[in-house]
Amino acid sequence: MLWSVLKILFFVVIVAALALGAGFVMENGPSVLLRVGSIEFAPSPLVAIICALLLLLAVWLILKLAGLLVAVVRFLNGDETAMSRYFDRHREKRGYEALSEGMMALASGEGQLALTKANRAERYLGKPELTRLLTAQAAEQVGDRKTAEEAYKAMLTDDRTRFVGVRGILKQKLADGDTETALKLAEKAFAMKPGHTETQDTLLQLQAGQSDWAGARKTLSAKLKHGSLPRDVHRRRDAVLALSEAKDVIEEGGTIEAREAAIEANRLSPDLVPAAVMAAHGYIAQDKPRYATRVLKKAWDAQPHPDLAAAFAAIQPDETPEARLKRFQPLLRSHPEHEETRLLAAELNLAAEDFPAARKAVAQIASAEGANARALTIMAAVERGEGGDDHVVRAWLARAVTAPRGPAWVCDNCQNIHGHWAPTCDNCGAFDTLSWREPPRSEVSMPGGVEMLPLLVGPAPKPVPEDAPVVLHEGDVEDAETLETEDDGPVEEKAK
Ligand SMILES: [Zn+2]
Repeated sequence: MLWSVLKILFFVVIVAALALGAGFVMENGPSVLLRVGSIEFAPSPLVAIICALLLLLAVWLILKLAGLLVAVVRFLNGDETAMSRYFDRHREKRGYEALSEGMMALASGEGQLALTKANRAERYLGKPELTRLLTAQAAEQVGDRKTAEEAYKAMLTDDRTRFVGVRGILKQKLADGDTETALKLAEKAFAMKPGHTETQDTLLQLQAGQSDWAGARKTLSAKLKHGSLPRDVHRRRDAVLALSEAKDVIEEGGTIEAREAAIEANRLSPDLVPAAVMAAHGYIAQDKPRYATRVLKKAWDAQPHPDLAAAFAAIQPDETPEARLKRFQPLLRSHPEHEETRLLAAELNLAAEDFPAARKAVAQIASAEGANARALTIMAAVERGEGGDDHVVRAWLARAVTAPRGPAWVCDNCQNIHGHWAPTCDNCGAFDTLSWREPPRSEVSMPGGVEMLPLLVGPAPKPVPEDAPVVLHEGDVEDAETLETEDDGPVEEKAK
């Protein structure tokens, strides 16, 4: 405000000074005398002023011409763009201004303004490889998919921008869920830039999602080659893919040595378990139970796991509980103190109705702080099998209801819990993210929690004031009388 007033004042002062000066010059007659050689002339003051202005104009013109002359000289010396640069400099300046303003607008979230600036920059600069990207991103920001797609497609025509174009369309297809087209685009992008980590990951995920295991293995080895994957992670993931591939072609699959090599290479990684289970199921399907036993025994030696035990049971599905207990002895002797081994021993003994042995295996785990539901239900079944009091059985079951569920296949990416291992997460589609661990507590707590207990253990025997908090301890449960316990509970079935 103050600055504007000052400017106006300054302008008024200049005009007044000029008027005064002109009047003074007119009144005082000719004071300028020009002499060229022997000729003298005295111009009128007004002419003198006009002459001075013309002189200034001439100097400006000469400077401009000198710039042009420099450009011409450069052009003659072989700088072919010097001339056009000289003439385009002005346009270029405005073009770059528009471009930088457009980028600022994009960064500050003003998509529409960025689009306008992009068009303007394109008009002045005529450099589509620069402005198309701005157009595409600005269009994406304002949700104008069509313009964005057109801009990306236009980028495909130029070698310098083709990769960016492919990547842009790829992202659009992924957002649409069109994985088939996305896979083709990802393959194209990967062929252009095999070292581009994001493209590698996208391609790998798409290939794994569509069970293209052979393609995924190639992508994985490219990741290793370009240093975007540590060697041990590569080895584990490659084994996962190899086993997934082997699962598809198990009939013509590799030799047992090849599979065992893959399993042995992954001895210390959690993915060992699904790999061994897959291999074992392959052998069972081929009617080679001895190979299946060997693979599972080796895997169990590395890490006891219920999936291994289940696969081991599947080798002889129709045997008696006693025969099964005997056949499992090699597994039970390996890692005898491991919780998984103890629970397995308890379940096998339970099925064979050797209750003291089952109790011996499970008692310590079930009594421990934070025992999981599996240990507690086994304990309840043991009590029941030994003819223990109903209230003792019920006490164990009541604890099991609110106990942690125990470890499960949990996605490290989205925390989704899976019943079975898979190379990709069912929920978020990420590749190789499932690990065997305790799920986050909040994800597994039952709706209702403790409030559901009265339904399981029967109504409370004594009337309780309505506003009294429901707190159940083992002692409370002992008083409940009406629980119907079936002879063959789900607990015992589980062990079979
Ligand atoms: Zn997930």
